[in-house]
Amino acid sequence: MYILLMGPPGAGKGTQAAQLVEKFNIPHISTGDMFRAAVKEGTELGQQAKACMDAGQLVPDSVTIGIVKERLAKQDCKKGFILDGFPRTVEQANALTSTLTELSIKLDRVININVPAEDLVSRIVGRRICKACGATFHTVFNPSSLEGKCDKCKGELYQRADDREDTVRNRLSVYEAQTQPLIKYYEQNGLYTEIDGRQEIHKVLDDILESLKGRSL
Ligand code: ADP
Ligand code: ADP
Ligand code: ZN
Repeated sequence: MYILLMGPPGAGKGTQAAQLVEKFNIPHISTGDMFRAAVKEGTELGQQAKACMDAGQLVPDSVTIGIVKERLAKQDCKKGFILDGFPRTVEQANALTSTLTELSIKLDRVININVPAEDLVSRIVGRRICKACGATFHTVFNPSSLEGKCDKCKGELYQRADDREDTVRNRLSVYEAQTQPLIKYYEQNGLYTEIDGRQEIHKVLDDILESLKGRSL
């Protein structure tokens, strides 16, 4: 199953991807997670990415396309993937199309989780992530049972540096200018489905699973 998950920052892509990974046992490929891992490791890629991420800007296409190409060519992508947070520009979308053709991969679904802009800021500023296992929570909408501690592994929860309100507003305008136009790109290929991301987390998942019915596994 080859799934592309789209949607604005805070729409719930990561939250849904975590559940799809369990269900379909395919890798979750998130460019945001890849960049954060590189920043943590202090690699050259991490140094390049950090300044852009902190400012709420996109990492340059040349860098981003390179790491995705490398990742998609790995053996574990042969049975499927959930691609989350890529592509974010027309240039990235074109690069993805040609990379998938080279790898003889056909997408099964392009799923856009739609959430209105006015709901996104509160979603993002309340987001908390487990330092140990990466699970995502929300202080109000999806709280862990013990404040500040992960339900899955008891790890410590933290707030991403770019999840503070001033950076969030930048990220939302970058999304509108550079990423939203991609909806038209994918609407034309017949694989596009829009899901109402304002619903509760489990309802969003139900709608995603419904949209995947009948696709190859
Ligand atoms: P969110 O879904 O909340 O926007 P991500 O974890 O997907 O967050 O991305 C965090 C940051 O990583 C982005 O603001 C951007 O700086 C960088 N990034 C992630 N994916 C891409 C991409 N495809 N192209 C360029 N930059 C990216
Ligand atoms: P994205 O990967 O698209 O940036 P996340 O999955 O990290 O988004 O979700 C952003 C925040 O919103 C997280 O704190 C998450 O717990 C919360 N969230 C996710 N889905 C929903 C939902 N359907 N309703 C309310 N809050 C949600
Ligand atoms: Zn955890």
